[in-house]
Amino acid sequence: MVEKNYLYPIGSSSSLSPVVLFDSVSSGYSGRKVLENVSFQINEPAIYVVLGPNGAGKTTLFRTLAGILKPYSGKVEIGGYPSESQQAREQLDYLTHIDGIPEGMSVVNALRFYANIVGATEADVNRVVDLLDLGDLSVKRFGQLSQGQKKRVSVGRIFLKEKRVYLLDEPTSNMDPKMASEIRELVLRLSKDKVILYSSHNLFEAREIGSKAIVIKNGKLALFGNISEIKTEKYRIGIRTLDMMDEMPYSSGKEGDYYLFELQGPKEVPGLIAKLSEKGVQIREVKEMQNPLEELFK
Ligand code: ADP
Repeated sequence: MVEKNYLYPIGSSSSLSPVVLFDSVSSGYSGRKVLENVSFQINEPAIYVVLGPNGAGKTTLFRTLAGILKPYSGKVEIGGYPSESQQAREQLDYLTHIDGIPEGMSVVNALRFYANIVGATEADVNRVVDLLDLGDLSVKRFGQLSQGQKKRVSVGRIFLKEKRVYLLDEPTSNMDPKMASEIRELVLRLSKDKVILYSSHNLFEAREIGSKAIVIKNGKLALFGNISEIKTEKYRIGIRTLDMMDEMPYSSGKEGDYYLFELQGPKEVPGLIAKLSEKGVQIREVKEMQNPLEELFK
């Protein structure tokens, strides 16, 4: 039998076991299957965007990976260890939808508190505080922070202790585009040489953050590969503004509260935003009107 050793350097390919193994896995709740026969292996550090519409099974995939849900059949391993084992859990951290940070604690004390729990040091707390770029906010109470600042702290918290695998469940859901891009930028900074699974239902976001995609369709694996393999025909975005405009430059029409814009692809979005800002348009939200994923899920 091959001896398994998980104390190899992060990002090393010397291990014989995949960093993440999901082999013919079916999993769900109270006997009802949500994931059916899903298989993939991750060997290389990168950001893997777990894509799928709401209800597809992304959170169920994360809970199964984290050892919270025991699969009905198949094998789930982290670094060669079964997902429910202590050795697997030590290699992984999981950001769920819930912050779980006490509102009354100052940010820096909250980070110290969690550092204590996970066995991280004061140096780790300082590293995370620096990376979070919170400045004076670190002495504020968590409850006084904005939604985006809270999420920054929550994301930072799971990076206190170095792990091989991080699961981030829709870290930018319900955020305005500026906050969302700050969170993505933070994840990119924190995640070097790590395996990150980052779930989203937005292909625009997926292209911004990652290069690899794990696409889940009705609980089945629809794609494990490069995001560039996801083909889309048209690219239509909608922009909601702070104030109603009599006339919106470059727009092709309106749908509900959203001004519509037809673009060649997501790469054109920053340019459009810059042009609109120059014209004094105050943007509240940018979203894909036809989520190109819908084409994929037909
Ligand atoms: P996603 O994260 O892609 O939005 P989920 O994994 O949360 O999808 O949900 C997939 C399916 O599992 C949905 O049909 C949902 O209703 C069901 N589900 C999620 N959580 C539970 C639960 N705790 N108990 C029972 N069913 C659940």
